[in-house]
This record gives sequence, structure tokens and C-alpha cells, in this order.
Amino acid sequence: MGKVTGFLEYDRQEQKYQLAGERVRHFREFTLPLDDNDLKKQAGRCMDCGIPFCHGPTGCPVHNQIPDWNDLVWQSDWEAAARNLHSTNNFPEFTGRICPAPCEEACTLNLENQPVTIKTIEQAIADKAWEMGWIKPEIVEVSTGKRVAIIGSGPAGLAAAQQLARAGHEVHVYEREAKPGGLLRYGIPDFKMEKYHIDRRVKQMEAEGVVFHCGVNVGVDKNFASLHNEYDAVLFAGGAEDPRDPGLPGQDLAGVHFAMPYLTQSNKRVGQEDIAGEPILAAGKHVVVIGGGDTASDCVGTAFRQGALSVTQLDIRPKPPEREDKLTVWPYWPTKMRTSSSQAEGAEREFQAATLGIEGKKGRVVGVQCARVDEKRQPIPGSEFTLKADLVFLAIGFAGSVKTGLLEESGVALDRRGNVVANDQDYRTSSDKIFVAGDMRRGQSLVVWAIREGRQAARAIDEHLMGTSALPR
Ligand code: FAD
Repeated sequence: MGKVTGFLEYDRQEQKYQLAGERVRHFREFTLPLDDNDLKKQAGRCMDCGIPFCHGPTGCPVHNQIPDWNDLVWQSDWEAAARNLHSTNNFPEFTGRICPAPCEEACTLNLENQPVTIKTIEQAIADKAWEMGWIKPEIVEVSTGKRVAIIGSGPAGLAAAQQLARAGHEVHVYEREAKPGGLLRYGIPDFKMEKYHIDRRVKQMEAEGVVFHCGVNVGVDKNFASLHNEYDAVLFAGGAEDPRDPGLPGQDLAGVHFAMPYLTQSNKRVGQEDIAGEPILAAGKHVVVIGGGDTASDCVGTAFRQGALSVTQLDIRPKPPEREDKLTVWPYWPTKMRTSSSQAEGAEREFQAATLGIEGKKGRVVGVQCARVDEKRQPIPGSEFTLKADLVFLAIGFAGSVKTGLLEESGVALDRRGNVVANDQDYRTSSDKIFVAGDMRRGQSLVVWAIREGRQAARAIDEHLMGTSALPR
């Protein structure tokens, strides 16, 4: 169990960031890793609690065996730690960078606000595994002769593809965009996760036999019925990309955009891909971002890097408390004041702020009309205010998957929220030999949940094809 007295001897230490003034000058990752000696001490803080909530249902969705690999890092056995980590997570270098780390909230040491730096250690194990050449293609000797198509190459599709190829199936991934990765590539900016992490996993998977067909929008460029006939099973992993539309007066003014076209364009620009349509750039502009989640935060960080004059973020929720009441919420995810690295770069944050409409002049946005809201989120008369704005991003969430094309053509049943109906045991849709995983099933969620669903759906498909499966659940 790490070091018996580690948690008493060593303070929590996290990786640091480049200063905001430096990091906004580029789009690269900006974390400053800890050295091996410090990481070892941090891993040694893990107490290997009798009930490791970090690894259990409230902590890690993929059930990473966190106390075990903390102990291995404490013993400097990084290779065994990497093997252990990969036994539950196909892509720990992704989650080590961008997971919000519910495991740290669930850590017993978090009862005193000093959780083990699990996420930093996870990233370090995965990065070392790549650096040392321990991550290699795992090529299977025996082929089952079964063919599986996966539609969508976000974390759910990628995890499922890797698991199914390792079970001996012939796996084909269809992706609408020019490159694989889903929101990892086209939503999440490079400053949170650079794209070479995806590229080298794709190479590993190609060596394992996975075939990627990019630039194919199934249900639009390729008829779904014929694809369905060609394969023994099909997995839908197309995400939940349909933006929630606030329908604001003035929303059609020039300079008002949904968040995703902006983030996709910026990611493509940074990745030196072709950009369709008019450039959306924040340089020299006053930017207002409507919404309080990850997507909004990524718009904030992107706007700063493009040289915005100011960025204001509007959140309809009340300002949360600085600290949660541990005894009522631990080990669950608490509502508390969180400041993302992007917000820390200088964003103004307005809480309990509703957007009433967008003001324009000569067809272009010039301001956003707001009001404070009461506890029922109703505007309080007399509390109205206007923010100057040259560019506005709408980032108030997603309303399920895009319905036109694939979903319409396949006819799978949807729930009230616009997600494809399937349970989290067999991942089967209402249609024969069609399975679904990730955001397309659960709605917009997290990368770690997408990986979990991809892995579990792969097992369900393997069982469907072979009658039994050795893949982990
Ligand atoms: P996606 O990643 O959405 O991938 C779906 C893929 O399917 C896409 O590539 C799409 O092009 C493709 N596709 C769809 N339909 C078709 C079709 N008909 N034919 C072919 N291809 C198709 N989560 C975190 O854990 N940490 C974060 O920091 C974080 N930041 C986020 C930032 C933003 C801006 C957004 C929008 C989300 C963020 N999330 C974050 C959530 C996370 O990215 C998603 O939960 C996760 O990517 C879902 O994975 P997925 O594989 O289900 O779908």
C-alpha cells in the first residue's frame, strides 16, 4: 500500500501550469510534469483504503485499479503499473489529461481536501509507457472471420474497435471527419490534449488490424442499409452533437455562433486542416460565452489564444460554494466553485445570469442583454444589464444525436432526450445486430464514460457473435 505513513509525511503536490501570460501565446499543452521522485512520493500517499472509493462505482467509470498502480509507482515498477492501467483503460494518456477526475473527489484523503494526485500519476504512467516503448500493437493470431462496423471514431468507437480487434474480429471504423478522434480531436482544444496522442493510438490500432474509413458520413455519403448487410454487427458511436438551441431574439445576427463550429474550426486550423466557411476569430474582439460547462470553457481558452480583448462567461446557475460539505456528499461528485485553467486566464464570470437577447447594429452583434435570475431561474425585474460583445458563443449543452442521416435511415428507437435507446448491459438498440455506445446512448458526457461504454459494448458484441466473450466488462 504505497508508504504506510506516506499520507502523513508528504503533502499533496499537483503538476503545475505554465503561467497564464505565457500559455495563451500558443495552443500546446502547458502542464509541467512532476519528476519521478515526486511522483513516487505522491503515489506513496495512497492508503489502499479497505474500500477504494476511487476505483469503485462513484470514483472511476472504467474502474482503474488505482491503489494497485499507486503502489507499483511507489515501488518504482512503472512497467507493471502501465500494464495494470491498460488492463482497464485503453487510452489512459487521454483521461490522464482531460478527465475531471471523479476518482480524486472519491479519494478518502479528500475528506481533508488532500486527495492523492491520481490523475497526474495516471498521465505519468501512460506517458512513460509510450516513452519507454512499452506500448506496442497487440496483434491476435486467430481470426474469428466475423466483421464489425463501427460508426464514429470518438473515444467510444476507438475503445470498442481496439477491444473487438483484440478479440479477433475484422473491424472497420467509419468516420465523417477527415481524421479519427471525434470530440477528442475536433472539440477539445490542443491546449488540453495535443492530437499526436490520438495519431499514435490510431497507428497502434491499424497495426492491430483496425481499418479506418475517414470522410464517410454514414447515412449521407454511404447508404446505411448496404453497410448493415455487409457486417455481422454494427456499433453506433456517433456522439451527441445536436446543439441545444436557446432561440434567443437576435441569435441570427452576424457574430453569433454555436460553440462547436468555432471549436472545430480552431482545432482544424491548429491541426493545419482545411477550414470550410467563413473564419470565426476572436482577435481584437469582446467575446461573450453563454453557458457554464466544458464546451464554454474551451471557447474561453480558445478566444484568449486568438487574442480576444475580453471574455465574459454567463452561467445561469448561482455561484456555488467554495467548498462542499464533505460529510453529506463525499465520495460523490460535489457541486463547488471550480475554475478551469481557461477561466483562470482572465475570464469574467457572471453567475445567475440569463440571456434575454442579442443586440445588433447593421446586422452584426454589438451586445448581449442579460438579467439576474431568481432561484427558479426567472429574470428579476430591474436587474437587467447589457454586455458589450463583438462575438457571442452559444454553449448551453446538447440535445442528443443528430437525427438526420444515420438515425433516420436506420430507424433505431430514440428516447425522450433524443438518445438511442439501449441498456448498459447488452448495448443493443431496437434494431437487429445494431449496438450503441458513448454519448449517442447516454447523452453528452465524459471521455472516460465513452471509453467504458466502448469497452462494454465490445464485449456485448463479442458475446453476440461468439456466444461467449473473454473481453472484460
Ligand atoms: P464523439 O467524441 O462525439 O465522437 C463521435 C464521432 O462520430 C465524431 O467523430 C463524428 O464525426 C462521428 N459521426 C457521427 N455520426 C456519424 C456518421 N453518420 N457517419 C460517420 N461518422 C459519424 N469530456 C471529458 O472527459 N473531459 C473534457 O475535458 C471534455 N471536454 C469537452 C469539450 C467539448 C467542447 C465537448 C463538446 C465535450 C467535451 N467532453 C469532455 C465530453 C467528451 O468529449 C464526450 O463525452 C466524448 O467525446 C464522447 O465520445 P463518443 O465517442 O461517444 O462521441
